Amino acid sequence: MTDESTTNCGPACEEALERLESFLDGELPEEDLGVIQQHLADCHPCTDRASFEEQLRSLVRHKCVDKAPPALFDRVRAHLGDAALG
Ligand SMILES: [Zn+2]
Repeated sequence: MTDESTTNCGPACEEALERLESFLDGELPEEDLGVIQQHLADCHPCTDRASFEEQLRSLVRHKCVDKAPPALFDRVRAHLGDAALG
């Protein structure tokens, strides 16, 4: 029995987060989709992460990045890379 921090519950989380972008893009095959959805249903940190990513995508999509707080902007850049903002 492990008692990991709430920010990372283990390999399942890493796997889920690795696929999160494809998940949000709707590019995951159905078998992976089910795995991610099941994980998000059980894992609050990953649910938070997924909803954060979704908000980022919405910001980028609507070109509202300039209006985002600098701290958020830094997180966007760090996570998505410069290409996503171009
Ligand atoms: Zn997780």
